[in-house]
Amino acid sequence: MFIRTLKIKSTVRAKTKTGLVSFCAFTIFFVIGWKFGISPIKESLETASTNARFVKQQLFGLPQVNIPSNYISENQYDTDILHYDLSFDLYPEKKLLIGKAVITGTFKDSHLHTLDLNLYDNMKVSYLILNREKVPYLHEGTRLSISFKNEISDTFIVEIHYEGKPKRMGLSSFVFNEINGRSVIYNLSEPTFASTWYPCNDIPDDKALADIHITNDSIYTSVSNGVLIDEDLIDGRKTTHWKILYPISTYLISLYSSEYVNFQDYYYSNITNDSLPLEYYVFPEHYENAKKDFEEHPQWMEFFSKAFGEYPFMKEKYGVAEFLWQLGAMEHQTITGIGSNFVSGRKFFMDIYVHELAHHWWGNAVGPKSWRDIWLNEGFATYSEALYDEHLAGSDALKSTMLSKYQDNFTGRLYDPGDDLFSQTIYDKGAWVLHMLRWEVGDSSFFKILRDYFEKYKYRSASTNDFKNVCEEVSDKNLEKFFDQWVYEGDDQIMVNLRWKIESRKNDNVIVRIDFVQLQDRYKEFHFTVELQFIDKNGKHENTLFYIDEREETLYHELKFVPKNVIADPNHWLLAEIAVSQ
Ligand SMILES: [Zn+2]
Repeated sequence: MFIRTLKIKSTVRAKTKTGLVSFCAFTIFFVIGWKFGISPIKESLETASTNARFVKQQLFGLPQVNIPSNYISENQYDTDILHYDLSFDLYPEKKLLIGKAVITGTFKDSHLHTLDLNLYDNMKVSYLILNREKVPYLHEGTRLSISFKNEISDTFIVEIHYEGKPKRMGLSSFVFNEINGRSVIYNLSEPTFASTWYPCNDIPDDKALADIHITNDSIYTSVSNGVLIDEDLIDGRKTTHWKILYPISTYLISLYSSEYVNFQDYYYSNITNDSLPLEYYVFPEHYENAKKDFEEHPQWMEFFSKAFGEYPFMKEKYGVAEFLWQLGAMEHQTITGIGSNFVSGRKFFMDIYVHELAHHWWGNAVGPKSWRDIWLNEGFATYSEALYDEHLAGSDALKSTMLSKYQDNFTGRLYDPGDDLFSQTIYDKGAWVLHMLRWEVGDSSFFKILRDYFEKYKYRSASTNDFKNVCEEVSDKNLEKFFDQWVYEGDDQIMVNLRWKIESRKNDNVIVRIDFVQLQDRYKEFHFTVELQFIDKNGKHENTLFYIDEREETLYHELKFVPKNVIADPNHWLLAEIAVSQ
């Protein structure tokens, strides 16, 4: 996911206005409703409170998403879904979704007598059979618990018919909306809102295959993950069938339905000599702009395939569809959603497109084991932006992109960030940690780490520890301390006072004394390699690496010239504030 922070600030006023309008509307409806006993009250109350939440979210920074602590039951970790066959019958005017889910799975523990799935209870179940038998079930809150008497040692098939009006939760969930008078239906489920529109085992690690059937009025184009199988027209309604050939996490299953225009491009792989369709679905008024903005996808695809390994969904497609989540974009597997205000025709938002494409390696093919590992998605996609800039324009571009993501006050730790899944710590500090890892292990190990990690975990999920293990194997280094200070425990960054002086001179040889004192207060002692540049009065310089592993440390260094100045970390490899004085 890409969240455009600047845009958040610029939309605050508009959303506040919407909030005020709905507050006024609510007051009027409330008074009328109170006086005449009619009831637009409930609806106004819901609109006002939704808008108030939205305004609050936007005023106070990046969105936080609450994951209820009991959202996943113990049983769900013992359940392995193999396949979802999902049918969605859409009625935009009524904002109604009628769904049918046929879910095939197995139990890792065959002693279970309950199948727990997630499904928000605004969706009402009308019919449910398990292995062709009617069975009792309890549907409350976010959980659908299905009971059965006989142990199931083989696969189970549960068929669930349900319907309801989706409600907006999290960052969007499932939305019936409009642009310029035309209906737009889309979703954004990350992290735990897939179950607002279909029943599922909503654990990112439980990947499955899927078939998606979307039925809507025949004027609409309906798009999903995977490959298009067929379209059926019956009585003015069109059913579009998409098939997902690679394992997918529930939060990445997606649906878009609108009066899209579409166009295609191709990526030709030099690695496998295969071609991959690039499919774009945009609003008619953005057709020309989108053609300009999207045209570099083949180059991005080629770069990432060379850097990380071949694009992992070669038998499907890569696609982009416009949606109306106006804070950024979402990397739905093989069909990224891009907020319609990020299609400018002036190539202004390339970083977003590059970021979403990079997620197809980091997040989609290699999924997060749990939401505690979200930095493996976002830190990697964010660093991929910098890698592409470096590929285009060299090491200065890498430096400048990394400096644009630099902060001296990242808060919270990377691993297990609780509800702060989408903070700048996760994105930008995550990217910085990869940058520092590259500095720590060297370029050739670093890129081998990325390729090995991708190859080992693609179509599966990886935990932070899985990634750490690959790093240690490839680099042949113990990275315990690195991961402790930057990922698992440390929520601070390096702050150092560096004092230097000429200790002694003998002929042309100069001994420089360097005193390092770490000053940061939330992490006692960082271990790191720092580059120092010693410069003489004519600009002649020498760069030397020093390894620091104590809070206070004094080092001596011999030079063949008299230094006039010392620059710490001249190539910006560290998340560090280093004040140098003589
Ligand atoms: Zn992202």
